[in-house]
Amino acid sequence: MPAESSILPLESHYARDLHGLYAPWQAARFPAPSLRLLNAPLALELGLDAQALDSAPGLSALLGQVVPEGARPLAMAYAGHQFGGYSPRLGDGRALLLGELPDRRGRLRDVHLKGSGATPFARGGDGKAAIGPMLREYVVSEAMHALGIPTTRALAVVATGEEIVREGRLPGAVLVRVASSHLRVGTFEYAAATGDADLLQRLARHAIARHCPDAARTERPALALYEHVVAVQAELVARWMLVGFVHGVMNTDNTTISGETIDYGPCAFLDRHGTQSVFSSIDHAGRYAYGNQPRIAQWNLARFAEAILSLVDPDPERAVALASDALEGFVGRFERAWRGGLAGKLGLVEGDEPTAVEADEGGLAGPSLDALPGLLATHRVDHTLFFRRLSLAVRGDDEPVRALFEEPEAFDAWASGWRAALPSDEVGRQQRAEGMDRINPIYVPRNHRLEEALALATQGDDALLHALLDAVTRPFVERPGLQHFAEPAPPDAPPHRTFCGT
Ligand code: AMP
Ligand code: MG
Repeated sequence: MPAESSILPLESHYARDLHGLYAPWQAARFPAPSLRLLNAPLALELGLDAQALDSAPGLSALLGQVVPEGARPLAMAYAGHQFGGYSPRLGDGRALLLGELPDRRGRLRDVHLKGSGATPFARGGDGKAAIGPMLREYVVSEAMHALGIPTTRALAVVATGEEIVREGRLPGAVLVRVASSHLRVGTFEYAAATGDADLLQRLARHAIARHCPDAARTERPALALYEHVVAVQAELVARWMLVGFVHGVMNTDNTTISGETIDYGPCAFLDRHGTQSVFSSIDHAGRYAYGNQPRIAQWNLARFAEAILSLVDPDPERAVALASDALEGFVGRFERAWRGGLAGKLGLVEGDEPTAVEADEGGLAGPSLDALPGLLATHRVDHTLFFRRLSLAVRGDDEPVRALFEEPEAFDAWASGWRAALPSDEVGRQQRAEGMDRINPIYVPRNHRLEEALALATQGDDALLHALLDAVTRPFVERPGLQHFAEPAPPDAPPHRTFCGT
């Protein structure tokens, strides 16, 4: 049997570069771990042997029970603005960075545990996680990946054999999470607050090396890093909006430098469209509602700018001017990503008459893009089904999509402009419909189904969980027997509530 260090050949870049931004730490002891989910394709991508991971030494390595040679596990320090208020010391209270490893394309990826025991950042929490929320993160993050949205990934969920205390007693588990890095806006806020200029500089250098190495060769590397993060976050939030994803807890400690979605606590996919849709049980003011996400991302990026201003330019006024200019770039980038993405979802391509993506007044496609969010919100139409059924309308059958509207005439009025921008020939339309089905998912992890699957899995029955995972990790391919995953919650179902910190 191979030793832990060859099963999980970890390196320790963060530990080496960023002294002052972590506490060295080890995972709690877990006497009876058992594997619940293992992501074999991801293991392959990381150059790991899935079979070896699914063995006693494999589980021991995955859970940080034995520290492989070269690894230096640690709890990361970070601060964060949570619901607008600043918390100077958050950090990995129940998580650990085991280390990094190069994937098969040579990119460095973090291997990180969630639920691995209380750390010096636990602030009285037990440091543990229940199986339900860890499986939830596994399913939703893998669904996001399958949708082509940048995200942290899930390598495994391991049941610890322990019971943890929440509302009642629940089976404990650890999620093994993989990410391009776990650097967050909150990491920079923490480093800036220490007042240690060298620490902030080392952090920026580390972030640049991992996420935008070209920035190191520019005149102002910190500004180039900032511009990079503005760009990737604008792109990310546009993609969330296009699939109807509500993150739910867009605090600055959950805003990555990589541009990956992180932290799947109180998130949800919209069913009936609504700009004010909120699912989090603690977001009473609707700060993180669906329609607020682009604005909140900008707010978070402004906090990032404040943290790195001193690196942008020694003259504070000049630094503010440069960073403000860069932040203003968010709107244009978001709009481009959003409009381009929406055009694609509607089966329009650049060059359609009149130009779909850049459509201006007088164009047909332009108004049909502009009017769409209002149409969906006013009529509370199911987000996922609307786009999926639109390809049927391109193929000549309007009824399935019309049926989503209480007043189908509203769809007809909108659709006449949209249809005029599509090719008039049969073959051309057929190609567009096929293209739409490749980008408009039929299966997303709808909360009512996800909760059902998690409730059963918590009791040890994983059948529905596996079926759901199969559906949402091939989200564009309609398959027999999976229809119930495509259906919205019944209209009389209570509004969904999700919980974080669980
Ligand atoms: P999250 O809501 O997962 O983003 O966590 C916010 C903060 O609370 C982070 O600093 C977490 O490490 C910490 N935290 C959440 N749950 C626990 C727990 N059970 N024990 C210790 N710390 C926790
Ligand atoms: Mg978090």
